Amino acid sequence: MKGVIMDNIAIDGPAGAGKSTIARLAAGKLGFIYVDTGAMYRAMALYFIRNGIDTEDESAVSAACEDINISIEYKDGKQEVILNGENVNAFIRTEKVSLVTSDISKYVSVRAKLLGLQRSIAATKNIIMDGRDIGTCVLPDAKTKIYLTASADERARRRYKEQKEKGISCDLEKIKQDIIKRDEQDMNRKTAPLKQAEDAVFLDTSDLSVKEAVNAVINIYRTKET
Ligand code: C5P
Repeated sequence: MKGVIMDNIAIDGPAGAGKSTIARLAAGKLGFIYVDTGAMYRAMALYFIRNGIDTEDESAVSAACEDINISIEYKDGKQEVILNGENVNAFIRTEKVSLVTSDISKYVSVRAKLLGLQRSIAATKNIIMDGRDIGTCVLPDAKTKIYLTASADERARRRYKEQKEKGISCDLEKIKQDIIKRDEQDMNRKTAPLKQAEDAVFLDTSDLSVKEAVNAVINIYRTKET
């Protein structure tokens, strides 16, 4: 693989903007692999919750990082996050995990743990990777960078609908407040905050259907390709 430059698409943006749905569908159309980095941070948060680690205590979190092994596998094209040998996909999407993830992703030790894994995946495959710091930190040389967002109201509505469809009872206003809190933390942390890379294309999906947003991502990629 040495010397081969992979075609990478970096997508960043705030919570619930539809990044994963849009990136997954666009990856399918382009024949790329979709890499969800939020799921990796979520798996780390799950470990801290399960093991009663005080997430306010940075040194306790850093020490616990030594006991964590995260890897990624693909089954039928779907990403599985493996935490110390266990597929934890079914446990990482709760609101509690979302909030704890945002709390712990500010720590350098947590980010350092995942950076190498994310870069090594991108080095060997054509990928669409989504997260908060992909265009700014993880893949600064990605040819296509997109900052994908939507209004807080629209993002909350989408997350509410998603949870309802899964049969999970939830409250729209609480979802909106959680999203705003997470964005505030993710944008204002010192290490790798969420922000639009200078060379990223801004894409507001508030008034776009999923299909329109997927086409917009593919069109941005195509214009960068030429
Ligand atoms: O994308 P998702 O909502 O699953 O991400 C969960 C949390 O993980 C974010 O709120 C953020 O705190 C953290 N995260 C991050 N950097 C990334 C991806 C996610 O800090 N590249």
